[in-house]
Amino acid sequence: MPQPNPIHLDLLIDASPRPASDGSRLEIRSPHDGATVGSVPKATPADLETAVAAAHRAFTQWSSRTAYERERIIRQATAHARSQADALGLAMALEQGKPLAQSRSEITATCDLIDYYAAEAPRIEGWTNPTEDRAYRSWVQWQPVGVCALITPWNYPVALLGWKLGPALAAGCTAVVKPTPVTPLSPLAFCHALAQGGLPPGVLNAITGPGPDLGEALVRHPRVAKIAMTGSTATGKRILELAAPHLKKVSLELGGQCPAIVCADADLDLAARTIAYKGWRNAGQSCSSVNRVYAHADVHDALALRLQALAEKMTLGDGISDPSVDLGPMTTPHGPLNAQAHVDDAVARGARILTGGRRPPGESYARGHYYLPTLLSDCPQDARVMREETFGPVVAMARFRSLEDAIARANDSAYGLVAYLFTRDLATTVRASDALETGTVCVNHGAVNTAYGPYAGWKDSGYGLELSRHAIHEYLKPKHIKVALP
Ligand code: NDP
Repeated sequence: MPQPNPIHLDLLIDASPRPASDGSRLEIRSPHDGATVGSVPKATPADLETAVAAAHRAFTQWSSRTAYERERIIRQATAHARSQADALGLAMALEQGKPLAQSRSEITATCDLIDYYAAEAPRIEGWTNPTEDRAYRSWVQWQPVGVCALITPWNYPVALLGWKLGPALAAGCTAVVKPTPVTPLSPLAFCHALAQGGLPPGVLNAITGPGPDLGEALVRHPRVAKIAMTGSTATGKRILELAAPHLKKVSLELGGQCPAIVCADADLDLAARTIAYKGWRNAGQSCSSVNRVYAHADVHDALALRLQALAEKMTLGDGISDPSVDLGPMTTPHGPLNAQAHVDDAVARGARILTGGRRPPGESYARGHYYLPTLLSDCPQDARVMREETFGPVVAMARFRSLEDAIARANDSAYGLVAYLFTRDLATTVRASDALETGTVCVNHGAVNTAYGPYAGWKDSGYGLELSRHAIHEYLKPKHIKVALP
């Protein structure tokens, strides 16, 4: 396949493409071979002002449309974005590294999710209250919070934008999106597509530039009422700190260090397939990746053999030119370095490498950020790979004898995002899922994120929630209206 042409995009402000006010741009490079794949403007403080002003102006009109009008307009916009899925998916594969088919399906799944929230707009229900006196009438209604800053990362650049944009737009909020400059092409192009699809001017704006200056200025901006962000726990805490003096509404989806408990009665083929999928897909760059596996001692070795076979069957490479590729490169140069540091630390503490544990050999991988799907066994609980977010294709195993011990070790973490459990026993399912200190528990599957299920990080994994119809309340504020009849 010939090298696709570089993609050069502008900011999106008030439904118009605009360069940065000082003309500066950021170059985006391929994680596969370092080639330039496109560029975006490096927004200035003046661009940020213009974008927030546009969102602020648009808010009055957008929030006063009926919920049915908002639903219709949003659906029309997503229909247009869906029609651009090939081009948007290619932009994502080029900048992020995941295979083209996975990138394309991220676009269409995001359109579906935004539609799910569009349908929720007419279901934002208030209530009436019985009152202490018949002369009073009392009702409660929900109103949109205002301009929202949506700050997004590079692992699922469009999906994690949709998780925020869907409920924000349905609630009647307007948005200024700030994607990471690591992968800005696909989210920026996605925003342009939604605007071309008929979102009114100013309802959705997108500016690109670095988090520590542009992102912070956006969080601090007095006209920004709400911040939703996905990324690292450290950045999430920083954003919360910046927002606190202004009492802004904040929701954060942060890091994970997800355990999988495999009991002696588990379906081992299913457990292995699921752990392989959740541990290595997208090169492990997911907050819900399986990082550590606690396998019952009676089945540990049989599970390890299955996992090793699955890892060694996986193909690595450029998933744009070769559709058979399972794993692309990691997105940033830091990725393989961090994975290697975690593997080396585990080995120094007594873990064994069953497969992987290094970059793949060969000329075709030399210029990319590749790392082999890696399986470690006998990993001690104090290894970095068991405690920190590796954010790479590394799965570490340890043995347990009693369920209580497995749960205690699974809970021995600063994070509390997702836990996986494999068992055929109902009592074990109930006991473990009650005791696991995570916002999501998946029993016998890895389909973590669905429109209907709330995704809330416990402990250092988050603040507020995303997904499910309840997430719309992250973008609404209640108003109690009490009337004394004359
Ligand atoms: P960050 O948390 O730094 O970035 C996430 C987003 O926040 C980006 O848009 C970033 O912009 C922005 N940002 C950074 N600093 C600020 C700030 N002070 N104020 C406002 N916005 C800011 O994640 P990284 O990309 O640096 O990744 C580091 C690690 O975080 C990963 O290795 C992984 O462990 C974890 N992570 C977890 C994710 C998840 O899904 N939960 C997603 C991504 C990362 P910019 O990129 O310009 O800094």
